[in-house]
Parts: sequence; C-alpha cells; structure tokens
Amino acid sequence: MKTVGAFRMRISPLETALLTLLAAACGSPSAPVRLPAPANPDIAIVGATLWDGTGRAPVANAVTLVRGDRIICAGSAGECLVPQGARVVEAQGQYLIPGLIDSHVHLLFIIDGSASEQLALDLRDLLAQGVTTVRDMGTNPAALLARVQALPASPRVYAMQLVAGRSFFFGGMNGFRVTRTSRGVIFRQPPAKTMQWMGWTPIMYTRDIDPDSVVREAQAAGAMGLKLYAQLDSVSVRQLVNAAHRAGMPVWGHAWVQPASVREQATAGQDGVVHAAGLAGELFSVEDRDTLVNDGDLQAATALAATPEAAHDPRILAALDTMARLGTMFEPTLDATRHSVAGYDAKRQHVAGLQEMYVRAAAGFGLEVTREAIARGVRISAGSDHVAYGPPAERATLFGELQLYVDSLSLPPAVALLAATRDAARAIGGEAGKQLGTIEPGHFADLVLVSKNPLEDIRNLESVEWVMRGGTIWRPGQLRSGIAMR
Ligand SMILES: [Zn+2]
Repeated sequence: MKTVGAFRMRISPLETALLTLLAAACGSPSAPVRLPAPANPDIAIVGATLWDGTGRAPVANAVTLVRGDRIICAGSAGECLVPQGARVVEAQGQYLIPGLIDSHVHLLFIIDGSASEQLALDLRDLLAQGVTTVRDMGTNPAALLARVQALPASPRVYAMQLVAGRSFFFGGMNGFRVTRTSRGVIFRQPPAKTMQWMGWTPIMYTRDIDPDSVVREAQAAGAMGLKLYAQLDSVSVRQLVNAAHRAGMPVWGHAWVQPASVREQATAGQDGVVHAAGLAGELFSVEDRDTLVNDGDLQAATALAATPEAAHDPRILAALDTMARLGTMFEPTLDATRHSVAGYDAKRQHVAGLQEMYVRAAAGFGLEVTREAIARGVRISAGSDHVAYGPPAERATLFGELQLYVDSLSLPPAVALLAATRDAARAIGGEAGKQLGTIEPGHFADLVLVSKNPLEDIRNLESVEWVMRGGTIWRPGQLRSGIAMR
C-alpha cells in the first residue's frame, strides 16, 4: 500500500514493474511519472444542506465523504476536509438525506407459473424514488433473494419468513374452511393455498412443532426475521418470539395475529406489528376472538367494530401503551388502505360489498389509531405495503405513506422522514439497524440528493437529483431508462 496525496491506493507488483518500465522509456530515471488515477477515488459531496437522520439540526454547506461503500465523514466543511484526489460532487443549494427505507413491501409474485418480469423494473423504480432499502414482509425469501442478487440496480432487500397456524393451511371440511356469515355458511379455500399459487412459502407452526426448527428453516431460506401472519395464539407467538430471539432474529406480525391480540403480541416480546386497522382485534373479547377466527366472519365483524370513535377505546389505548412501554414498533400501512378506498371511489355507482365496507372502515379507524399511537409514544416505521406487480398507479408507496403522516396526522416532515430512515432501519434490525438509516461514519453510503427542501414540504422528496447505494450513484432517468451512470 502506498500513499499518494491524501488518499491511499493499491499498486500491484505488475503495476510497479510497468511504472518502472514507463520511467525507463522516458529516458531518465528522474523523469516525472504520472500515476494512474485510482480506480475508486473517495467521493466528496460538497455544498448541500445535510439532514443526516440522527436527530441533529441540518448542516448548511456540508461535506460528506464516501470511501468505497461507506461514509467516512459527514458534517460542516471544517469537520470534513476534502481529501486530495477525491471526486467532488457539487451539491450547492441542494439537500442530502439518508437513502429512504420502505420496511414493508411484497416483491415476488408468480403469475401463470412464472415470476413477474415486473420485479426488476419495480426495484429500479424504487431506487429512482430514493428508496435504497426495502424489507420484503413475506413472499419467498430464497427465490426472491436469488433474483435480486442478479440485478445490477436495486435497493438492498431484506426478507422476512411468513409463519402461520394450522388452520391457515388446512380446511375443516373437504379441505375448505367453513365460515358462518349473515348470508349463510361460506366455504373458503385455506389462505395458504392462494399464497402458494403465487409462489410464496409460508411455514406452518403449531404448539407441538419445535419453534427452533421454524427459525432454522427461515434462516436456510435467507430470511432475516419472522413475519407472523395468522391463526397463532399467544402461546405460539411467545414460543416463536423466544426461538427467533435466541437466533438473533426479529419477529413482526399482523395486528392482530388471530386469535393473539396486539397487546398479547407486544407482551410476548414481538418486535413490531403491522396494519393499523388490525387494532380492531382489541375490541373483541378473548372468546369472541377465538370464535371469529375459527368459524366467524372476521371481515364483517371488523367492518362493524372499526369506527373512528372506536380507535379511542380504552382497550386499544391499553394495547398502544403496552407497545410504547415495551418498544414494540408499529407500521400503520395507511397508503395501502388509501389506495383501496380510491379504487372504490373511482368506481361508477354501485352497491358497496363487504370488502368495500371493510376497507372504508379500516381507513378512518386506522388513521385515528395511528394518531393515538404517535401521541402515546409508539415508534413508527413507514412501511407502505407496496407490491411489485399490477398497475403502478395502484401500488402503495413510501412517498404516499409519508404524505399521509404529514397531511392527515400533522407530523412535521422531519419527523415523518425519521420513520422512513433511522426508525425504519431499527425496525428491520440486524445489519440494517446498525449500518443504515442515518448518514454517519462507518454506515453504508446510501444517500439521496434532492433539489428542493423536503423538511419544508414532504412533496419535495420527488425532486430526486441522484441516489447513491453503497457508493454508486444513479440518476432517476438513468435507472428508469436502464443505463447506469458508472
Ligand atoms: Zn403486507
């Protein structure tokens, strides 16, 4: 290793020999030798207003230094000196923020027997929006991660393993689940079947299964945590949480995970819950929850119970207080519900079916539950429930989720941004929790440069100049046209 100027570079024995030959060819041993430019010079982003996501005030006219795939310095010009030979990226008048993190997406969909070709396009598009990390909340970790690995431009992808109880996989009568509704008895295919058709790989858990074996299977698939989906009681939740935590894996789950309630999930040590509308589960008694899960019409019951007023019910507030006390995180996924409501609004005059009644109730109730959660100190991660298939306009986005936090919940843009950077990284945990989400020395160089101030107006997140993932810069147009910058 030789030191040249202020940066270090590797020179191989072959290069040393070539340099000696070059010097000899110039006729004199004292002739000046031009060293080749280093393959990967440090990058200095100079002049931007830096919002680093750590909670410190924005730094005007900042210098951010990147070496390889890491940040080595971020602060004022006095704090971070630009090394000689660094590649300087001018960013005067612009705003540098951490790469955005969407902690709730579903990426892999097998349609008609083959994976949707939309995956690569969707990931490029996410990167173009400034999203440098996503957490897949349950599809098929092994197949997904292998596909992502082969893509030249993509956010970092972390994958969770779906786990559900027995009745999620098997029906009671000729393989069908029997549900009693006001319209009579309905026979439904077990939900796991639908998932498996899409190529998803939920794992079944019952109390007589070794929870450590579920964790091992999830690890073998490449998952970094468990996502509890449905039909799990509080004992099962606790067993799975304990096993996962022994292996250093986080556990997230649907709110509620039927029959276990959110309060029970939090008390069992679960790391986070998703979907604000699911807090409606707290409104049912223990007996009702069991009946609803086994043979009731859960959707109809929720549509009736989940009113905006019910969001302030003491049972829901108790669950939220338990989450705040134990540090259980919360992903409200409001934009996904907003998209569903917009879909019904756009329909011509029609009679609202049960699904529509449920969605409309979930939207109003979910917003109020989230308002209470924030007021009570529950930490929010801005997962969107984005899916990588179907018409792009119908997909929930991180941008939409943040807009709702600001517009409908009156969060200051900086607080909303923390939910999509620092706190989303914590939500994912593991490597992401330690090395992503903030602009700090040692962290991965995942950055977004926007031309307008997102702290003034969250919509300014749309003014992406470029995105950096692990030291590589792309401009949105290049990602969308498929031509990488370097
Ligand atoms: Zn989801």
